Amino acid sequence: MNVERVRSSFPILSKKINGSTLVYFDNSATTHKPVQVIDSVSQFYCQWNSNIHRGIHYLSEKATEMYESSRESVREFIGAENSSEIIFTRGTTEAINMVATCFGAVNVSEGDEIIISEMEHHSNLVPWQVLCKQKKATLKVIPITDNGILRADLLLSLITQKTKLIAITMVSNVLGTVNPVNAIIKTAHSFNIPVVLDAAQCIQHTKIDVKELDCDFVAFSGHKMYAQTGIGVLYGKKKWLDTISAYQYGGGMISSVDLFSTEFCSPPNKFEAGTPNISGALSLKAAIDFLNDIGLNSIEQHEKNLMEYATQKLMELEHITIYGPQTNRTGALSFNIDGISSYDVAALLDRMAIAVRSGTHCAQPLMKRLGIKNCIRASFALYNTNQEIDLFIQGIKRVLNLLT
Ligand code: PLP
Repeated sequence: MNVERVRSSFPILSKKINGSTLVYFDNSATTHKPVQVIDSVSQFYCQWNSNIHRGIHYLSEKATEMYESSRESVREFIGAENSSEIIFTRGTTEAINMVATCFGAVNVSEGDEIIISEMEHHSNLVPWQVLCKQKKATLKVIPITDNGILRADLLLSLITQKTKLIAITMVSNVLGTVNPVNAIIKTAHSFNIPVVLDAAQCIQHTKIDVKELDCDFVAFSGHKMYAQTGIGVLYGKKKWLDTISAYQYGGGMISSVDLFSTEFCSPPNKFEAGTPNISGALSLKAAIDFLNDIGLNSIEQHEKNLMEYATQKLMELEHITIYGPQTNRTGALSFNIDGISSYDVAALLDRMAIAVRSGTHCAQPLMKRLGIKNCIRASFALYNTNQEIDLFIQGIKRVLNLLT
């Protein structure tokens, strides 16, 4: 993979902040956008802007065709059987809320149980918590080890006849832990329990094949995989999308309406009420084309090297505690400097134009489990380099000199 060529596609990477070139290690929050993605959005508004699925005029038909072709791109990218299994959402959060609401409405009742894990992002925790409260169901939690590894061996002991669903992240947004979702799905399916995968921190790093995984639902966000904000995907197996309830009601999702009753469209339209984010969907196709051109395997290898290099360099420093597993980690590297607030570290690094995240990373229960209030997270993308990691390590050394 030619990283310099890849970097030249990202205009923002040459930006100077406080006089220094940006080192952007906040990619788990959102990635930057290549010109191919930026151009796809401006081209839509300059040349094709129109609403979809409505008009029979030229622009509307063209916009509809482009929007549906984006859906087909997503289908192919994740290996789904049919493009009707691809629903465009605002992002991972909306996709998971959609499953909680629509699956929950018809499949979860009083006394039922839903299983999540201790390392979930709030977006794959709160929707299930609220659903359980509404339905008087019980939320059960797969614990993690002190090293941030999922205790998947305990799953069997949590499953009962009342278990209605398992929702689990493929990769932790804090620890980078890669969870054994294949085994979890196999176990769950042997009890006919469907599995929801939160792929927000996986889709941009590793090839996903939903047919091979045999998962029931998968959620991810476009903006974390180089596309625009406000677009995401819920993949759902046809058998579920056909039987769960709709999410919102209105134009675009009905086949016929009279004043007192309505017939709904089949999936995916059943779940896409109102005018969708058309340019967002096109930007997602552009991002997928961009990723395919480079190749997910090359990206995975490059990011693995970055992670190993950064981990090794960080481990050489004193006063640093790294969280999470030492191997089989992707995307995110979280740590603290003994006795120093993560906010102070991030603020000092920011003065050196190094962007990292500090805080609880939308995973407060995980912070509690790790026995910390917050931490610093450096997260990597395909355009990052070892030279940037060197600058980051130099930055940390300066922080250590200043504050310890
Ligand atoms: N799940 C995980 C694991 C995440 O890391 C995030 C965002 O950081 C989300 C869900 C929510 O994604 P979004 O804010 O794009 O909906």
